[in-house]
Amino acid sequence: MIIAIPRETVPGERRVALVAESVKRLVGRKHEVVVESGAGLGAECSDEELHAAGARIEPSTDALYAKAEVLLKIQPPDDAEVERLKPDSVLVSLAYPLANPALARALAKRRVTLLAADMVPRTTLAQMMDVLSSQATIAGYRAVVLASEALPRLFPMLMTAAGTIPPAKVLVLGAGVAGLQAIATARRLGAVVEAYDVRKVVKEQVESLGARFVNIDIEDAAGSGGYAKELGEEAKRKQAEVLAQHVAKSDAVITTAQIPGRRAPVLLPADMVRRMKSGSVVVDIAAEQGGNCELTRVGERYRTDFGVTIVGERNLPAQLSVHASAMYSRNMEKLLAHVTDKDNVLKLDVSDEIVKGMLITRGGEVVHPAVADVAM
Ligand code: NAD
Repeated sequence: MIIAIPRETVPGERRVALVAESVKRLVGRKHEVVVESGAGLGAECSDEELHAAGARIEPSTDALYAKAEVLLKIQPPDDAEVERLKPDSVLVSLAYPLANPALARALAKRRVTLLAADMVPRTTLAQMMDVLSSQATIAGYRAVVLASEALPRLFPMLMTAAGTIPPAKVLVLGAGVAGLQAIATARRLGAVVEAYDVRKVVKEQVESLGARFVNIDIEDAAGSGGYAKELGEEAKRKQAEVLAQHVAKSDAVITTAQIPGRRAPVLLPADMVRRMKSGSVVVDIAAEQGGNCELTRVGERYRTDFGVTIVGERNLPAQLSVHASAMYSRNMEKLLAHVTDKDNVLKLDVSDEIVKGMLITRGGEVVHPAVADVAM
């Protein structure tokens, strides 16, 4: 099977879909790997290193797409990339097909088979292929590092001859994959951490990381597949009332709350942020999904006129491109192993739960029922 890795073209995207270590293992399994020249540079992976691992380096983008039987990417393809994809080739990429059905329609029109990397089912078996989890882990860590950098205070408690420094107070909103990693990272840096999630089932996980769970007496909002449901108006009001007190006394608030297929919920309205101390920081991981903070400016970090710094930077995983790529690459390897037979031939078996969840287009049609519904 010819596996192709193009250079990512979205500005600021420094990750690559396969790193040298994975290339070596895939070539060892008799696959051919072709990498566009320079594709790994943003992740500190040179053409020489990829070549030494067994990849062929292809200088021409058109030639790379023309060779690909399976093309592995990170960012959803743009129009020009869709046009380059060969009919009957397979694309594995982030695609957000429920939010962006037009891409699914365009790929179907081109007879490209799409396996959406963001549609891996959240099951134990699929965990090794789950790029949402691997990249959210990185984002959670990075958010805390950004908060510590923007905060004009220390995170840990220090008892020194020059006085005692109290630990920073960090509040994490949303305790999914990114939130739990943010809690763990803030704890490692010595902060006192509180966390809140609408799914009460995470209380135990939050506490096991040494943080305090903020209890709010509203309905549990655990939805299907472990995801959250949207709250009702009365619950939202009650939540805001309690959160306001915790936000006001926090030095840093990291927000990670998301609801699949919806705009991220606003947990920090402007008046709540105004009650934070001057010098405090908000890092909004959900910035690109609409933001959990009303004052977030997507892609920006700025200080408000009342002294709170708000970080709404895009694509936090790309800032740690080496490890983000290594984890994405390992997810891709596991996925390829799952969808190829013992002779290394691609077999997309739709009775398999993972394939069924990820397979969006095939044979010129949008075949995923939920995507087909929105793509009409
Ligand atoms: P996500 O990115 O969709 O959302 C992040 C968190 O925000 C979630 O915990 C959610 O409950 C929370 N949230 C939503 N609305 C909120 C609100 N109004 N206030 C506060 N918090 C709010 O979630 P995720 O990190 O992708 O994880 C979703 C679920 O999937 C979790 O249960 C996780 O354990 C599970 N999961 C399972 C696997 C697996 O088994 N393979 C892998 C990854 C995640």
